[in-house]
Amino acid sequence: MSCNYADGLSPYEHKGVLGVPEKFDSIEKFEEKCKLLANLLKESKHVVVHTGAGISTSAGIPDFRGPNGVWTLEKKGKKPSINISFADAIPTKTHMILKKLVECNKVQYIVSQNIDGLHLKSGLSRKYLAELHGNMFVEECNLCKRQFVRSSPVETVGKKCSGVPCASGLTGRRPCRGRLYDGVLDWEHSLPENDLLMAEWHSSIADLSICLGTTLQIVPSGNLPLETVKYGGKLVICNLQPTKHDNKADLVINYYVDEVLEKVMNILALDIPGYSEADNYIKQAENKLIDWTISKKDVLSMEKVYKAKCKGVKKLRVLLKSKREDVTSNENDIVKDKIIKLEIKNEIKTEV
Ligand SMILES: [Zn+2]
Repeated sequence: MSCNYADGLSPYEHKGVLGVPEKFDSIEKFEEKCKLLANLLKESKHVVVHTGAGISTSAGIPDFRGPNGVWTLEKKGKKPSINISFADAIPTKTHMILKKLVECNKVQYIVSQNIDGLHLKSGLSRKYLAELHGNMFVEECNLCKRQFVRSSPVETVGKKCSGVPCASGLTGRRPCRGRLYDGVLDWEHSLPENDLLMAEWHSSIADLSICLGTTLQIVPSGNLPLETVKYGGKLVICNLQPTKHDNKADLVINYYVDEVLEKVMNILALDIPGYSEADNYIKQAENKLIDWTISKKDVLSMEKVYKAKCKGVKKLRVLLKSKREDVTSNENDIVKDKIIKLEIKNEIKTEV
């Protein structure tokens, strides 16, 4: 059961604002905003998409802070009623659309907080994906730090040893005497270094960041989209609940992510691929070894691009923290009236 993930984490007080009511744009507003988003996608050169639990709810995996989220219900002493196992869940329309947008070069990078493995099941290549909180289907060696895809979910969370020897020797590298650990972070763990660096660099050079299905309450993940804003790029937020950064966004869409992206694909005249088991990396791992380590070459070349573009550029810099924590000090913070202030900024409106 997917609740095992939340159950497996250590007790933690600061889970952020829970259970804020969802809201929905009118159909007219929804259509107008989808057109704006499609236009932004067309005119942007480097687009980063930030995904949270809200993109997996239509696959049957509950989110955390929604009205029926794991932690919202936990506070009431309840558990989610709809709950598919991680092994059985298949990618949603959103996952498949994101894979397609990456393939046709409309989206350059995806930063996910999700541990459900659905981006891997969609066939999204590691080159375009940072997984900031780990993955139920990925293990990491304690010595060489190489990562491998599993065909079944890990049985533990919180970086515990499974006892399985490292398979590095089978990839043509020197044999390694390390053991594999689950790659799912608990609260006290630092975020995976290369995933975080790639996410930060891509977010900084992006001229558009799109946040899907996240309330952006956990740092550093929730603050990465602000890097785009700090360097002059645009920010779009699509979520049913208000988010921590709605007031900094150029466009806020309160509607189902699947429907928003489907509409955007229609406007862009792009077809939506169906889920294909053959492309599913987790399925492929049944028969072959799949190395999921971020390529060093990719990290070095991205660092170059980042330095060339952002070095010396003046911006209000807030040092990114490397540990995951919630920074909401005031429970009412998120529902302050200013979050609705900038549903559509005038500057975008005039561009249409
Ligand atoms: Zn190893």
